[in-house]
Amino acid sequence: MSRIVHLNGQFLPEEQAKVSIFDRGFVFADGVYEVTAVINAKLIDYAPHMERLERSLRELDMAWPCSRQELRAVHEDLVKHNDVEQGRVYMQVTRGVAERDFAYPADTPTTLMAFTQIAATVANPRAETGVAAISIPDIRWKRRDIKSIALLAQCMGKQRAAEAGAYEALMVEDGHITEGTSSSAYIVKDGRIVTRPLSNAILPGVTRRALMRLAADHRIVVEERAFTLEEMYGADEAFITSASALVLPVVAIDGRPIAAGRPGPVTRKLRQVYIDAAVAGA
Ligand code: PLP
Repeated sequence: MSRIVHLNGQFLPEEQAKVSIFDRGFVFADGVYEVTAVINAKLIDYAPHMERLERSLRELDMAWPCSRQELRAVHEDLVKHNDVEQGRVYMQVTRGVAERDFAYPADTPTTLMAFTQIAATVANPRAETGVAAISIPDIRWKRRDIKSIALLAQCMGKQRAAEAGAYEALMVEDGHITEGTSSSAYIVKDGRIVTRPLSNAILPGVTRRALMRLAADHRIVVEERAFTLEEMYGADEAFITSASALVLPVVAIDGRPIAAGRPGPVTRKLRQVYIDAAVAGA
């Protein structure tokens, strides 16, 4: 049976979901997206994902594609139709179909599409081994707080990571790590978590937000400040977070092991605490 996807109000087999070549998502990457984790067939952190979507849409003067209730139903129905136990829902909104012209068209209906991916979200073997990362220059635009579908710099970074046998590329600007190509980045030093403060330089990670709250609940200190690549080389632990990876230990960077080159106790605890809270609160 083929995957059921959503396009503009309809649930369709993926082969039948077609979009015009004049869609501004296709022509200009004029769109935004969200990825929500699914654990035990439940959507995780759905409300903050929709808050961030609202912000992305507002920043680009783009209309909601449908009502909030309809969008929630789209997510839930896709999980059901496709029997997703563990994985994610990807959704994107573009400014719709219009003659190619840079300025925004007036009154063009947006295009909404969404699909599911099945993946070992909780039972991820990478959580046991940890992952390797590389560092690359951050060559992205200056509004990284908007969850734009324009991801070419991230594709280039992930490709470089793959070629180096690594899982993630961490991006560096002015000597400081901004974030991963598809993740928020952290180090642990002397029991304290260090992560960059929110600004236009990074995406406000939904998993980051949940983790900050959980760290506070467990009396783990979080220092919100930019940290350097050198600090990561010398860290006790490092990890990344995202809706797809949840909390994943980074055990090597640029071919150098971080501390013992194994997932550390703080990262392990945070991953467990995050999963427990996600399952309990979903
Ligand atoms: N930073 C970037 C650039 C991302 O693309 C992502 C996720 O895709 C994240 C951070 C993590 O965000 P979230 O935890 O909301 O998945």
